[in-house]
Amino acid sequence: MVSIGLTTRLTNHQKHILKTLEKLDAPISAQDLHVQMRCIYKKLGLATVYRGLEVLKLHGLVQSRTAINGTSLYTLASKHQHYFTCLQCGNFIDIQACPVCQLEAELEQSLSFKVFYHNLEFFGLCVLCQDSGS
Ligand SMILES: [Zn+2]
Ligand SMILES: [Zn+2]
Repeated sequence: MVSIGLTTRLTNHQKHILKTLEKLDAPISAQDLHVQMRCIYKKLGLATVYRGLEVLKLHGLVQSRTAINGTSLYTLASKHQHYFTCLQCGNFIDIQACPVCQLEAELEQSLSFKVFYHNLEFFGLCVLCQDSGS
């Protein structure tokens, strides 16, 4: 997935961000990622983590989505995942199906645009919140 030429241009911090994201099942905020990385890089600043994530995003290696509390959550761009988010409790569940992949391929063709990732999200009330509310 990651070409050798590209990997050598990344800083150690950026490579470590990729490794950490690879091990995680769920999307993570820059803050939480920072806490995890501080175990190894004691003096690492949060700004470095943010900058690293942005660089990796520009390389098409990392994707982000915005949680309902406004926090950006990061995953590897290669992890193709969509979500249903409950507006009341904030719980989210993975959606396996994706109707957009075909469209993405077509856009790459017709616009000569290099697509790294896409976001597709559904919002509403989960089963529990439907029962407790209204
Ligand atoms: Zn809910
Ligand atoms: Zn998709």
